[in-house]
Amino acid sequence: MRSKIVAGNWKMNKNSAETEALLTELAAKLPDTQAEVMVAPTFVNLQSAVKQLESSTIEVIAQNMHFGESGAYTGEISADMLLDIGIDTVIIGHSERRAYFGETDEILAKKVKTALKKNMRVMFCFGEELDDRKSENHFNVVETQLKNALFSLDASAWTSIILAYEPVWAIGTGETASPEQAQEMHAFIRKTITDAYDTSIATNVSILYGGSVKPANAEEIFSKPDVDGGLIGGASLVADDFVAIIEAI
Ligand code: 13P
Repeated sequence: MRSKIVAGNWKMNKNSAETEALLTELAAKLPDTQAEVMVAPTFVNLQSAVKQLESSTIEVIAQNMHFGESGAYTGEISADMLLDIGIDTVIIGHSERRAYFGETDEILAKKVKTALKKNMRVMFCFGEELDDRKSENHFNVVETQLKNALFSLDASAWTSIILAYEPVWAIGTGETASPEQAQEMHAFIRKTITDAYDTSIATNVSILYGGSVKPANAEEIFSKPDVDGGLIGGASLVADDFVAIIEAI
């Protein structure tokens, strides 16, 4: 069901003591909000984060998982392992996974399928690169990413999908898509889903924007009708910034 969401993707940052400290500060400063608030620490700190946030409304989610159920996949983490420690939402398809770890649409489709089979929620990331936008190919790229990884899913699966549009050129660069660019793409995404499925699926899916969201620009981006929240990188590592972004929704 469509809801407001602010999620912090901590990427490969914060050791165990720093994780505990940031979560303590966040839990203490968390504003009253209708939005779902999520944090994605690194794998080694997930279990302690879940324990620490037991009595908080902040949800701990994972940054990635493997498509295999178990077995000989050295260095990988399965859906069952995440579920076992109380995590049922996973980020799949982040552009850094695509760019640095060779995750193709085909691999991502398998990950999505496994996560859904295990009744997990998937936060699926996608977005065009700078060259795609410069050549005005960004709508095609986004449509293809969605089609390849998600459009063979049954309609019923969409209640477990959250989308996160993250233009690669805006990630960690300080350059943000303008609120108008974000709105334009989010509306296009809903139209694409309407064409592939129907209006009810398109209107009910939450679509987050990610890419250099900060306290200074969050409110304007979140004010757009098709933007349901944000996936925050750098600014989620500073409690006061993340709290200010939550307050902006
Ligand atoms: P930044 O907010 O640091 O640009 O990162 C965005 C992101 O990649 C979140 O997944």
